[in-house]
Amino acid sequence: MDAHEAWEAAFNQLELQLDRANFDTWLRGASFIGVEEDIFVIGVRNTYARDMLQHRLYRNVRRVLSDVYGQPVELRFEVRKPAPPSGSRARSGEGDMPLFQLLDQQLAQEQDDLPPLHQQIRRPLREPIPESELNPRFTFDRFVVNGSNSIAYEAARAIAANPARSYNPYLVYGGVGLGKTHLLQAIAHECQARGLHVVYIPSEAFTNDLVNAIRNKNTAMFRDKYRSADVLLVDDIQFIAGKDTTQEEFFHTFNALYTFNRQIVLASDRHPREMATLEDRLRSRFEGGLVTDIQPPEFESRLAIVGMWAEERGMWLPPQVIRMLAEHAPNNIRELEGMFNQIVAKAHQDINSVTPDMAASTLQRYHQPRQHGRHVTLTQVVEVVARHYYVSLRDLCGKKRTGRINQARQVAMYLARELTDSSLNQIGDMFGGRSHTTVLHGCNKVMEELDGDPGLRAMIERIQDDILGR
Ligand code: ADP
Ligand code: MG
Repeated sequence: MDAHEAWEAAFNQLELQLDRANFDTWLRGASFIGVEEDIFVIGVRNTYARDMLQHRLYRNVRRVLSDVYGQPVELRFEVRKPAPPSGSRARSGEGDMPLFQLLDQQLAQEQDDLPPLHQQIRRPLREPIPESELNPRFTFDRFVVNGSNSIAYEAARAIAANPARSYNPYLVYGGVGLGKTHLLQAIAHECQARGLHVVYIPSEAFTNDLVNAIRNKNTAMFRDKYRSADVLLVDDIQFIAGKDTTQEEFFHTFNALYTFNRQIVLASDRHPREMATLEDRLRSRFEGGLVTDIQPPEFESRLAIVGMWAEERGMWLPPQVIRMLAEHAPNNIRELEGMFNQIVAKAHQDINSVTPDMAASTLQRYHQPRQHGRHVTLTQVVEVVARHYYVSLRDLCGKKRTGRINQARQVAMYLARELTDSSLNQIGDMFGGRSHTTVLHGCNKVMEELDGDPGLRAMIERIQDDILGR
């Protein structure tokens, strides 16, 4: 068998041996170039494939080829086709050109005759992965557009309308509670409705999933899960900074998807250049597409948002109360929602009780802990909640999931979030190393229940007073 035939045979064997995503991403399209000084020279499509084959997959490929050829061989991989745009975009110093201009130029260059992604792809619908569940309320039509978020919104719409054909990757960044997750999920909903395989995942869930995959030795499944996405949306990507294994894996996921022209969307609480421990190669990928920020909404849009929420619940709120709400939460719509829910809870008890006075005192209470500069610790929250619910500290922070313990735990998470400055991760750590998504889920559950459960609301107020020593 000559060298060329040996490569062809080895190539076919590798297709059977490697998992599909790996093979498709790194080896498909590889071609025999020749033998130079006893070294097999193989042409590959881009520098990512070359690096991957030269380092990670080298032993694997060499073993198969040596077996087929009947003697030990060495290989060298060379790029034989032009690198994909991300490579040149990420490395070169295109420098000062305004981003939009640059992107438009590239788009014009890249225009080809490919049909849109959702028409290219026909594959059976997969079950969404559990972490990937979307909030049905996070849609474009429930997103109030204004000057502070219109660029982010327009970009998101363009991507949803034409995934992987407009801005790729797309990264939106901004402070807490400004609608990043809402926008990501709005894109996800729209792409899903068109039959695309959409994976939405908070980066911490990605990390957990990876850790489990490594532990259970099924990284092939892990890769297939993320690399088969048509649209991958990773929320709170800032949390991967400093985590080596996650960054490494995400880098390859990113390249695999990008190479195959799949859409990548990221949200972060800051610009990639402000993520100190983010690997440079990821930073340049993230910055290689469109990056937009999202700012706190102006007063008028806060009014509009509260108005929309009230209308959705078929509820009339005095205009003065709506104004007060909008005035009280200038920088965070999630906080605005928290306050709105408190007022709604009162209104459920007695709609006539919703007066400007009542609103004023409710909102004042909401702000009190921080206004008073009272420093509440996680331990205080946990101790007081445990006492009120008659559960032990050990159970509260442990694994048991019986009704009362579970509710106490969720209430404690909610109060920890309201009263302390702890991050979701720190709160999760306090409760036996739970993930930040679990904490968020707990808090949201309490917020939702507060609406229709005056008993719970009273309980939480008592606990809160107790914590604050009132
Ligand atoms: P982030 O991910 O930026 O922290 P979220 O997307 O979770 O923020 O938004 C917090 C809450 O505020 C959500 O309930 C979301 O629906 C709501 N929200 C944020 N921005 C808007 C907007 N422009 N219009 C309507 N609701 C919004
Ligand atoms: Mg978010």
